[in-house]
Amino acid sequence: MSANSYSNTSKPGTICYTAHGNLYLNITNRCTARCVFCVRDLSDGVYGYNLRLLYEPSVEEIKQALEKNNFLKYREIVFTGFGEPTVRLDDMLSLIRWLKGHGAYVRLDTNGHAQLLYPNRDVVKELKDAGLDAISVSLNAESEDIYNRLCQPRYKNAYQSMLDFTKKAVNLGMRTRMTVVGFTEIDIEKCKRIADNMGADFHVR
Ligand code: SF4
Repeated sequence: MSANSYSNTSKPGTICYTAHGNLYLNITNRCTARCVFCVRDLSDGVYGYNLRLLYEPSVEEIKQALEKNNFLKYREIVFTGFGEPTVRLDDMLSLIRWLKGHGAYVRLDTNGHAQLLYPNRDVVKELKDAGLDAISVSLNAESEDIYNRLCQPRYKNAYQSMLDFTKKAVNLGMRTRMTVVGFTEIDIEKCKRIADNMGADFHVR
């Protein structure tokens, strides 16, 4: 059942949560991967917030939650949460424009599969044109084989598409970071070299 199938009559759950001086947005629980380390399979949320949504909040509900949380006092507004934000690309673009209109700094944390979700669009350029400041892409592995085993993506060529997505963000001048989870079976040094070669920052989460 998709999150959209739930009744729209009650509060959706946690839309905004705070950590590290940032305000994080939880706009969907859907995702195009099934990572073996996904926190969704291990708990109901992070930092003490329950991130399981009863339904996907509308753009209006998200704006209201942002305003209620005085979003401008935070360093960054980060699209992340218990799912892949780009599954709601048009809603995200509209929210990015709105946030940028208010002067916020906006980041997207993503698995980098969005170009596969929208093959006829230029997703990174649309994000850039909407005003997105920074992108953090989950690299997760130094090879496609390991990536497919760990992340179980819905798409066959997800690894290459994620790399292309990242390169495009770098080329368009966006602040771009690649991240890995600190698993022992991942070669962190090789992952760092991939990020370096892309011209992206690197972070072990
Ligand atoms: S990409 Fe993120 S939300 Fe999706 S399964 Fe992997 S860790 Fe979970």
